[in-house]
Amino acid sequence: MKALVYHGAGEKRWEEVPDPTILAPTDAIVRIEATTICGTDLHILKGDVPAVTEGRILGHEGVGVITEVGGAVTDLAVGDRVIISCITSCGKCDFCTAGLASHCRAEEGASGIGWILGHLIDGTQAELVRIPFAETSLHRLPDGVSAETAVVLSDILPTGHEIGVQYGGVKAGDVVAVVGTGPVGLAAIMTAQLYGPSKIIAIDLDANRVEQSRLFGATHGVVAGAEDWRDQVLALTDGLGVDVAIEAVGVPATWGMALDIVRAGGHVANVGVHGAPVDFPIDRLWIQNLTITTGLVNADTARMLTRLVAEGRIDPAVFVSHRFALDAIEQAYDTFERAAETKALKVVLT
Ligand code: NAD
Ligand code: ZN
Repeated sequence: MKALVYHGAGEKRWEEVPDPTILAPTDAIVRIEATTICGTDLHILKGDVPAVTEGRILGHEGVGVITEVGGAVTDLAVGDRVIISCITSCGKCDFCTAGLASHCRAEEGASGIGWILGHLIDGTQAELVRIPFAETSLHRLPDGVSAETAVVLSDILPTGHEIGVQYGGVKAGDVVAVVGTGPVGLAAIMTAQLYGPSKIIAIDLDANRVEQSRLFGATHGVVAGAEDWRDQVLALTDGLGVDVAIEAVGVPATWGMALDIVRAGGHVANVGVHGAPVDFPIDRLWIQNLTITTGLVNADTARMLTRLVAEGRIDPAVFVSHRFALDAIEQAYDTFERAAETKALKVVLT
């Protein structure tokens, strides 16, 4: 088959590799119908993720058709169309049963952070992919939901929902602010709506992104570069600050912004993956009675979110900005890398 293979920092090639095979009775093989490129793939390509070694097939988002199942897979069958979870997990170990699938302890994933596709095991930017623990790691694609729409259910929709909205404790009537409206921030905006907040404020440096956020459910937008950006946010909350501030960038500036706009007793949910330490001014935070959360996505709400997509309660079709054929993936990476120019949001390969 053909696959996109990582060959060390800065190097990737769409090339011929051996077809994956069933290695454990709990495995399935899936033929990819749609996959995407994520910001994390760009980090890997820069060489920022040492856990990813040369020869790894990239990609952790995908939808496809099962072509083969191991002897222990009884819930799924050849021909089933499925959404692939970005992190596969056994569903049985201490962490999986405690709702921390991302820390699955299963033998082959002994690295301690689950089996992230395209990181520790081969990924979805390929014609075929092997999925360990198929029954917990694949979700049936409902009739009427297209592969390109469903592909965000692998990672970004659960990430925004679980680490942003759920950890942030968003509830009816809340004022929610999302700092950073890339795909993950937009996913938080889209899923925050499910809990009935009174306002969802989108904050980004890019005025286009702020405007686009309204398509995802933002009720207000603030351009972060404006000198009075904080006053604009506070003015939307009677000067009190927001109930929930969701950080979806992963740089010191946006972490600081989230702390600066939250009200006393509020929540700061950090979703961004930080490449460096941030200031944690406990001396001024303690008196604010804040709840601060962060974490790695478990993707355990993917099935629930899939039902909401099937019922039309949320429509992730708006994420798709560009489409390419799978074998034009290098061109797709180029478009995604130049997002500021190309306005790429989610680039889907089919
Ligand atoms: P992205 O880079 O596509 O989007 C980031 C957005 O932040 C952009 O729109 C950019 O304009 C905006 N931005 C940058 N600097 C800013 C600033 N100073 N003020 C306001 N806005 C600013 O990223 P993404 O793909 O949406 O991912 C967001 C973060 O979520 C990343 O750090 C990613 O690694 C992380 N992530 C975390 C998990 C998890 O499990 N916690 C899972 C997936 C992704
Ligand atoms: Zn497990």
